Amino acid sequence: MEPERLLLALDFGGTKLTAGAVSTSELAASGERRWWAHRRVPSPPGSNAQSDLEIMMGLARDLLATAEAPLAAVGVSFGGPVDAARGLVLLSHHVPGWEEMPLREWLEERLGVPAAVDNDANAGALGEYRFGAGQGYDSLMYITVSTGVGGGWILNGQPWRGADGMAGEIGHTVVDPDGPVCLCGKRGCVERLASGPYVAQRAREWLKAQPDRGRILRALAGGDPLIRSGQALEAITAKLVAQAAAQGDDLAWEALEIAARALGVGIGNAANLVNPRCFVLGGGVTKAGERFWEVMGRTARETALPEVHFDVVPAALGDDAPLWGGVALAEAQVRCT
Ligand SMILES: [Zn+2]
Repeated sequence: MEPERLLLALDFGGTKLTAGAVSTSELAASGERRWWAHRRVPSPPGSNAQSDLEIMMGLARDLLATAEAPLAAVGVSFGGPVDAARGLVLLSHHVPGWEEMPLREWLEERLGVPAAVDNDANAGALGEYRFGAGQGYDSLMYITVSTGVGGGWILNGQPWRGADGMAGEIGHTVVDPDGPVCLCGKRGCVERLASGPYVAQRAREWLKAQPDRGRILRALAGGDPLIRSGQALEAITAKLVAQAAAQGDDLAWEALEIAARALGVGIGNAANLVNPRCFVLGGGVTKAGERFWEVMGRTARETALPEVHFDVVPAALGDDAPLWGGVALAEAQVRCT
């Protein structure tokens, strides 16, 4: 049996920093997901790359301080574009100072073990593939639907990152060319129709324009006067819309249905192009309930050719999917050595 060593996983999210460690012998013996140790802190307001790195190194040192087994490798999920082959963070959309940051080299110098770095969508795909809902599939697309819509591919058991590291950007595939303008400048992207903030925005606009509808949603948001005065706008989130829809609110359901259909068309198109065996879906919006899943799955199957078969399943690892992807990245480093 191999001597016990530790794999360290780091997740630089937009709003939080997480570090976790697992034991290689435990992983080999049981294959069970269990953190040997795990720490998560919010990224403080006004942070930059340097301060986030210092906080993360503090978490890592704290995790490893009591370890008797040596560290074998580090795997990193980063919430922004990454050149995985060079271990380079290209930039962060949330935190300044990350431009062209050689994160792999930086970590290898400080920790003295091999490191690997990838973006959070690819890491999430790898995490679900190795430890979550994607186990047993040799090809899958992981899609996360929350503030944005991101995606990552596993093909033939390996991450497929694309020529520019941009593979999996299903959020900015167009499903309605005449639809509303997306942040990226195009019209009718999956993200523009299906992400949480846009589901909420749609519901708010309809509540204002259609005073006779959305009774349950209005009540959940604190009552109609608050909505009329604009004070309840922040209370109307995608989660609240889903809650109202589950209780039978038609307006709320219609706002969600647009998201379910947009995702379904995106999935069906991706299925036709690449023919993966499975789509693993995570993120807050995918917790919108059975009806949401039914419409999304049906639309995906109607969009794809009848000869193209695939499963659409909920993610198993939740917010920890990218961190488990970090474990898988670290594991691959150990196998290489
Ligand atoms: Zn877009």
